[in-house]
Parts: sequence; structure tokens; C-alpha cells
Amino acid sequence: MKYISTRGKDNKGVSAAEAIKRGLAQDSGLYMPENIPALNEEYFKELLPLSYPERCAKILSLFLTDYSYEELLFDAEAAYSKEKFIPSAAPISKLNEGEYMLELWHGPTSAFKDMALQIMPRLFARALKKCGEERTALILVATSGDTGKAALEGYKNVEGTKIKVFYPIDGVSSVQKRQMQSQDGDNVSVVGIVGNFDDAQTGVKNIFADESFRCELDSNGTFLSSANSINWGRLVPQIVYYISAYLDLCKSGAISLGDRLNVCVPTGNFGNIFAGYIAKLMGLPIGKLVCASNKNNVLTDFLSKGIYDKNRTFHTTMSPSMDILISSNLERLLYVMFGTEKCAEYMRKLGAEGKYQLSKEELAKVQESFVGFYTDEDECRECIKRTQNSTRHLIDTHTSVAVAAAERFMNENKESGAMLVVSTASPYKFAGDVLLSLTGSKPECDLDAPALLEELTGVAMPEPLRRVLSREPRHTEVIEKGDMRSAVLEFALKK
Ligand SMILES: *Cc1c(COP(=O)(O)O)cnc(C)c1O
Repeated sequence: MKYISTRGKDNKGVSAAEAIKRGLAQDSGLYMPENIPALNEEYFKELLPLSYPERCAKILSLFLTDYSYEELLFDAEAAYSKEKFIPSAAPISKLNEGEYMLELWHGPTSAFKDMALQIMPRLFARALKKCGEERTALILVATSGDTGKAALEGYKNVEGTKIKVFYPIDGVSSVQKRQMQSQDGDNVSVVGIVGNFDDAQTGVKNIFADESFRCELDSNGTFLSSANSINWGRLVPQIVYYISAYLDLCKSGAISLGDRLNVCVPTGNFGNIFAGYIAKLMGLPIGKLVCASNKNNVLTDFLSKGIYDKNRTFHTTMSPSMDILISSNLERLLYVMFGTEKCAEYMRKLGAEGKYQLSKEELAKVQESFVGFYTDEDECRECIKRTQNSTRHLIDTHTSVAVAAAERFMNENKESGAMLVVSTASPYKFAGDVLLSLTGSKPECDLDAPALLEELTGVAMPEPLRRVLSREPRHTEVIEKGDMRSAVLEFALKK
């Protein structure tokens, strides 16, 4: 299986290992497999009795054809072990009759990013070997919270790599800050930036774009790479849990093989929901993909009007991992649906004017598979309380946005089949706002919120989070944004 760019310039195609090593294509497009494997009912039946790591290895082997099944199984078993995902990788719980929740946050950092970032570094380390790469990969991450910690946990002590994470000192929650500052591992570095997320991200982008700096690193045996969801290595593991969840629902008798299942996903960069769309293209009987947004509702508008317009106010919300105005992975959808030329044209318009508009026919095609709803802050808080009271499910602020969107969808589409709501973070990761939603108040210090939430609800806090809260911070360095480049160089030179 070859990988080609969504924008079509350097399209002879590269291997999966090469695509994972590079991250971005040379024409700044995103890598996509040249075709999407089609699966039939027989294939799904074969997967039915398998464990999560086995299903993962089977599905990944369809896409990563330059990796052996044994390699993939080894990595999947290590990534999704019982020690790392407690009690298991992607358990399902029942919310209401015909409505289920897929919990993707039982990994080491209590957010769904672990589902990809536990296995991607392993795929990446193999990619370096397969490509004969002898330089050290320096993974650079700017984070608004969840990605940084999940990338650190994934890449710590991975051979041939180092990882440096920049976070805005005033732009992440106290729990997230403590998670990152207490990170262990020999190849990790975590630095606070005076400024907001944009400052951190712009700094990292500038470093990636600086040719002479990259040459300087190169002469020191280092190259830069990224861990965000534009990398195919992060997207492909996410396809697995949609297929696996469908099979688990079949196994439990909630649905029968072949039944339509709608899926609702709390969305930011469009990575998670796009993986669900690929599962649908592969033949999984997914009905509608419901795209749930917070007040930053650029995708809701896009899915209803066909106009993507990032020229709008940016809102800071209590679901910060969805505070995004440019959803990078939407580019992959445009490519799959309308081809490279249209995709490149829309991306050019997005870069130049900040907006583009689909034709009527194109919009109709998007709406066959997707529908969008958004939820404001008050409604998000009410939904957390309502869900706790009526279903005894304690949900986080991101999941709440999805539960609210799923309710709307089900009200408007009775008889449309079962619904699977994707839950992306432990409520303890955003305990302050969850407490506020349930009780009307929260403690002055955010770090006290998890224990109070546990006391109030009796729901156990994830153990890794409890350990982090009791650990002393070890990465406390804070720098000005102008000093990021020299900080990267210094880390690259460190033995
Ligand atoms: C990253 C994240 C999201 C958004 O996922 P995308 O793939 O960027 O759409 C939603 N919820 C949580 C908790 C996240 O960390």
C-alpha cells in the first residue's frame, strides 16, 4: 500500500513507514493510502472472537503493508496491555436504551489521545529502522493540554527519539500542567512558554519552517518530526476502535451484524471522527457520523451550509481540546470525497482568505455521512448534571458536548438505529468544571478538584492521575517565546 499526498504534487507515493516518518508530505499535503480496503461480513465475523490487540494488528496490517503482522501484534499487545489500559482499551457502557458510550480514556494519561499515542511511537521507531534512518528524531510538540502529556508518555524512552513539549503556562489546566511537569523518562523535555497556545504553536511552526535551523540540526545528526494528528501513524490506530466497538456491541447482543450504528464524536481537529469515516468506507455499517462541537462551531456551520470560514471569534471554553478554528484533518475528507485538485484549491483558499465554499452537490455528498451540532457552555454544564442524575454516568466536559449533540440527533431522527457516543476524557482530567456543573461551585485550587469530585460521586479516580497529583514537578523551566529555538538546539545537542 502506497501513500500519496492530498494535494497531489509529489504523488509517486511512499511506503507507510516513510509516511509515518515524514508526517507531512513535501507539498504540505497530508498522506493518505492510495485506496481504502473494503471489508465484508465474513471479515468482521473473523474479527469477532479476537482481543483488542489482535483486532488492531489485523486492521493495521491492511494499511501498513510494509510492517509484518507479527510486528504489529507485538506493538499492539505492548501498547494496549492490561497494565496500561485499566480495565481494558475501549470498553463500552450503556447510557440509555439504544444509546451506548465508547470510553477511550482508560489509558495512562486519561484522554483518548492515548489510543493513538501509545502505539504510534512504536510504529515510528520501526519506521526509522525500515527507512534506514540513522539520525535521531526530535519530536516537537506545542500543546494546549492533552496531546503533550499523551505524546510524552508514548515517546518516553523510545529508541532513536527525543521529545520536547512546549505548553503555554497560562493556557493549560493545573492537572494538565502537573501531568506534564512530573513526566519521567530519559529523552523528554517539557518547557512552559510565557504566552498563550497560539504563541507556543507559532513558535513550533516557525522552527519547523526554518531551513537553516534544520540544516544545523541535521549536521548534528538530528531531524524534526511531529506527533500531531496530521501524521497517518496517529490516525490509523483510531480506525480500530470503531470496528472493535461495533463488534463488541454485536457480541453483547445490543445490535446484530449488519445493523446501522450512528456515531457521535466530540470534535476538534477532525482526526477522531475522520477515522470513523474511514471505518464506514471500509464497510462498517455506520449510519451518520454526528460531529459535536463546542462554541467554536466552525464545523457545525460547514456541515450545514458548506462554507468553511475560520474568520470568527475564538472562544476559550471548558472543553479546550475542541477549541480549534482550523480542523486540519478535514483536508483528508475533502481529498477522499472530491479528489486532489479540489482539495488543493480549497486549501489554497483557506490559506489566502481563511474560507472556502463547497458546491451544492458537494455539500449534499458530505451530508450523506455527516451532520453537525454545537453546544454552548451553559448547556454543556447542564448536560453533565443531567447525565449524572439520569444515567449515573460521570462525564467530562468534552464528552458532554457529544452527549448533548447525540440527544439532538436522536430527537430529530427517531428510528434511525442505535447510537454510539464517543467519550474522550476522564471526568477527573477536567474535575474543576465537572464539579462546577454538578454543585455550582469549585475549589480555588484546581488541583484539589479531583479528590472533591471523588468524594462527591464515589466514582474512583484513575490511578495514574492520582499518582501524578502526589508527585513533585520536575520540569519547571519557563522561557520567553523568543527563546524556543535555542532551547530546541540545546536539547538536540544533549547526550
Ligand atoms: C483531542 C481531543 C478531542 C478532539 O479530537 P480531534 O481528533 O482533534 O477531533 C476531543 N476530546 C478530547 C478530550 C481530546 O483530547
